[in-house]
Amino acid sequence: MRGLIGSHGRSAAIDASSSAPSRARPTRKATFLLQLQRDAGNTAVSRLLAGSGRQEFAGRSPGPENSTVQRQPPPVDEFAAKGPQGQARDEINNALQTATRKLGQAIANRDSGAPLPPDVFTAYNRFFAGSSLSQLDLLKTRVEEALGWAPSIPFDLIPNPVPAGYRDSAVHVVALAKPGLLAAALQPPLSAGDTYIAIYPPWTAAAAPLRTAVIFHELFHFFPGVVHAPANAPTEPSFQNARAYQGLVGSLAGMSEPAGITAMFPP
Ligand SMILES: [Zn+2]
Repeated sequence: MRGLIGSHGRSAAIDASSSAPSRARPTRKATFLLQLQRDAGNTAVSRLLAGSGRQEFAGRSPGPENSTVQRQPPPVDEFAAKGPQGQARDEINNALQTATRKLGQAIANRDSGAPLPPDVFTAYNRFFAGSSLSQLDLLKTRVEEALGWAPSIPFDLIPNPVPAGYRDSAVHVVALAKPGLLAAALQPPLSAGDTYIAIYPPWTAAAAPLRTAVIFHELFHFFPGVVHAPANAPTEPSFQNARAYQGLVGSLAGMSEPAGITAMFPP
């Protein structure tokens, strides 16, 4: 379902990757919601999340460089115990952190006249084709912002059917009617006040890498005007396309498409 509140589902991604002309026109309601998404901007999410998220992340980031204690990786059971949502949050953090670091290296190379790291060069030309290298700064800024939100953005697993009186139920009723819709980014004025990622039941059954990619995809919808503009068009619309960020971050993080999924890294 293209356009609705920056949502993302398997079927929608497949539509995009095939460039099919049969793309369903948005309903009037979806168009309205899309406009809300466009108008919402990221002021609210910045206000709600920038402080706590960044601090929480910053507080964890000093590494053990000066420590002689060898950190052991956590036991496998600890990761399993986090459940799909906790695991996805860890993976999102890892992916955005890796992408931030690699984009920083690419910018340093650009500024010193050196070639970009090959993986960044490939991903940037694939997902942000036609964009100038000066745009790498904007891209890194946005990936870093998303990284700041990732530790604390609430996830809400929406029940189906939505109980009467559930927050933002009108939005979720529309979303749940779309088969295969996995998640959506909500912030005012689309939501009644909260900024969060709505997770719909099909997400839980999706393959793990796709679960992760879909959620960091949603984070990019919190930026003003980031919807599903056609990727790879000549006028740099990729910066308005959540799928372009999804593909770039996933690629730089070394994620691969699970079996049977061909739209995780859409063109
Ligand atoms: Zn989306």
